Amino acid sequence: MSITPAPLSSWARNVSPSPTLAVDAKAKAMMAAGEDVCGFAAGEPDFDTPDHIKDACIAALKSGKTKYAPTPGIEPLRQAIVERYAAEYGLKATVGQVVVSPGGKFNCYLGVLATCSPGDEVIVPAPYWVSYPEMVKLAGAVPKYVLADDRTGFRLTPEMVEAAITPKTRLLILNSPSNPTGAVYSRQELEAIVAVALKHNLYILSDEMYEHLIYDGLKPTCVATLGKEVEARTITVAGFSKTYAMTGWRIGTTVAPLPIAKAIGELQSQMTSNVTTFAQFGALAALTQKEKTAAALQIMLTAFDRRRKLLHSELNKIPGVSCLLAQGAFYLFPKIASFGLKDMDFCSRLLEEQKVAAVPGSAFGAEGYLRLSYATSDAVITKGVERLAKFCASLK
Ligand SMILES: *Cc1c(COP(=O)(O)O)cnc(C)c1O
Repeated sequence: MSITPAPLSSWARNVSPSPTLAVDAKAKAMMAAGEDVCGFAAGEPDFDTPDHIKDACIAALKSGKTKYAPTPGIEPLRQAIVERYAAEYGLKATVGQVVVSPGGKFNCYLGVLATCSPGDEVIVPAPYWVSYPEMVKLAGAVPKYVLADDRTGFRLTPEMVEAAITPKTRLLILNSPSNPTGAVYSRQELEAIVAVALKHNLYILSDEMYEHLIYDGLKPTCVATLGKEVEARTITVAGFSKTYAMTGWRIGTTVAPLPIAKAIGELQSQMTSNVTTFAQFGALAALTQKEKTAAALQIMLTAFDRRRKLLHSELNKIPGVSCLLAQGAFYLFPKIASFGLKDMDFCSRLLEEQKVAAVPGSAFGAEGYLRLSYATSDAVITKGVERLAKFCASLK
């Protein structure tokens, strides 16, 4: 007798697995099998977590910080987050406005859940980070994509935002510096965009995960500091993963107006409770042992900046490839549309024929591009781009 299981839920059936993790997993499997793969697909720093952060976590673990903690985070960490926003941006928040969550990804999801009801629309700028559409759908809301391609430097204009707004729009997502493009909005550009959001009474989710990975002497803009009215409707997400090479620690932060922060804390209290207690002490050390942290960050930034310029100049030497010099994060987003291949096919053939792992632009809602991460060695960048050039030449 055959047993027909009941169908899975619509949530389970409709969620798409992360395509960036999928490419990275295939490349890693090939490497594990002894193949010489040049990996540009990773979404994390290739550095190790600085020692003083690890040491603080180990000390906390050994001293028994192994029990439940308050859901929104241990008090000293929330206090340190308040202080860092004040020092870096002049943003005056209180401890009650801070929620520490298991990874910035979850902070983003809770931000959507706290502001959107089923059927509400969310403006998602494309190229987008792959998790935004899925987390919007998992809240029962509807993503509305607005594509800004290389002609506007992958940055939305206020007119593009205005055109996408309907009476159902509730939330605007912003992500500067951007994953996948590395694009950084200027303060003026953000002012013009948030003015549209204010006019239509939208919430803003500002994902500032890459705020510290920024080059050419630029300063990041904390969207919530663009005015009191903006602050009153902005959820600021940041974290430790990218800035301090702590992706596996799973610690992210939200700063939001008090009622939203409370709602986010309550949602989290029923879903995951607190972030691993002793891990939070490592994060605390990242914020309080400022000199050591600044020194470690400077080493990473110097390497990222050098690789960014190397990758950019090598890519633009390849006939048919054009690439903007992005000013943040650790990604470049070259255009490969001139080869007349779908970017999915381009990437799977590139991996098979030349053993180079890259993520297709279509995974981020922008067909005709690649996302290349330069969180890898100079040697891999040089070798990988040589192979990419060979592959491109074979397509002509
Ligand atoms: C990596 C990333 C995050 C979340 O990182 P966590 O590891 O969950 O802290 C959020 N937004 C963007 C754009 C990212 O690239």
